[in-house]
Amino acid sequence: MNVFTNKSFDNHEQVVFCCDNKTGLKAIIAIHDTRLGPALGGCRLWPYADEDAALTDVLRLSRSMTYKAAAGGLNLGGGKAVIIGTPGITSEAYFRTFGKFVNSLNGRYITAEDVNTNTTYMEWVNYETDFVTGIPTYAGGSGDPSPVTAYGVFVGIKAAVKKLKGSDKLKGMKVAVEGAGGNVGYHLCKNLYKSGAKIYASDINAKSLKRILTEFKAVEVKGDDIYKQDVDIFAPCALGASLNDKTIRMLKCAIVAGAANNQLDDDTKHSAQLLERGIIFAPDYVINAGGLFNVNAEVNGGGPEHAMAKTEGIYDSLLQIWKHAEDSKISSVAAANQLAEKRMSVIDMTKSIYSGATRTKKTAGDRMKAIHMTKSIYSEI
Ligand code: NAD
Repeated sequence: MNVFTNKSFDNHEQVVFCCDNKTGLKAIIAIHDTRLGPALGGCRLWPYADEDAALTDVLRLSRSMTYKAAAGGLNLGGGKAVIIGTPGITSEAYFRTFGKFVNSLNGRYITAEDVNTNTTYMEWVNYETDFVTGIPTYAGGSGDPSPVTAYGVFVGIKAAVKKLKGSDKLKGMKVAVEGAGGNVGYHLCKNLYKSGAKIYASDINAKSLKRILTEFKAVEVKGDDIYKQDVDIFAPCALGASLNDKTIRMLKCAIVAGAANNQLDDDTKHSAQLLERGIIFAPDYVINAGGLFNVNAEVNGGGPEHAMAKTEGIYDSLLQIWKHAEDSKISSVAAANQLAEKRMSVIDMTKSIYSGATRTKKTAGDRMKAIHMTKSIYSEI
């Protein structure tokens, strides 16, 4: 396994390999960039084919968290964790062990839920560390970020329709949702259904898919047929890299706007292909930032109202990015990257060495205090 020469390595500040023989935990934590603040990003549990696949995923995901926080105007850096394991694990010890590893980084990395992890797991993580968000509301956290992520994607879809048609009404629009039965997919479908859109849904989990077909009168689509649907919008809400050389050719839609992280297999090449085909593309880390806005409230305050206001702002952010892209004759991905990089570049790298915060808490309030200490260290330097 190569780390520094991995094609997804982007001068990440730190990559930590975590192993615990007793619980069987095998995880990788990647801290991409802490110039704007402590690296926050979810913890994904996935049965990766091999360690290289897990490393590549965590490198790509952590980088995109840096851009997501920067583009979203947050004082957070980018990080992510992946656990190589089987979904459905119910061991408290396993997640507490993960929490101990997170704690050992002294707040340089703050975790949250992601694919196949949830608020219960984050509560277990919280037994061992302050540096966790997305814990249940009864434990003082902001709860599951997925509904807010889904709302942000819904708002982003409306912005794309506004750009396409001059009106953002979704009534009668056809939307193909890949991964429709997932946490974000479900809530997105709920919003789409309420707004009068027709849903074409795929999911490899038959039980979750059935719920979408029943509750939202969606049309079932199998496998790769989801890319070929004669629809207005394709919303990728499963895993990354689903848009690639093979699938972009199949698209018949005018808009690609969904929740999945790293939707494009190759950012430069595939954003150019979408542009060539005249397809409006919502850069993933911009449209799916609602969940980050939600957990950010646990670090930087502001509460749910502030998180929702920022999520509503995804509409204008996307319109601004598409305008910048058109004015500069570049792809929407390049335009979003430029805006995020501009914000990061104002921070002097020499002042970015994070000194960490001590673990002081026992209660949820103390947990937030410890995270606020992290924040004040950043504002002092
Ligand atoms: P999830 O695991 O609940 O949902 C993913 C769904 O995709 C599952 O139902 C799964 O069965 C399905 N799936 C997997 N591979 C598929 C395939 N090849 N074809 C069709 N369906 C497939 O995860 P989630 O929390 O809903 O997240 C979905 C995506 O959005 C992920 O890429 C995640 O990183 C991203 N995201 C999530 C959040 C959040 O708040 N949950 C925030 C930002 C980004």
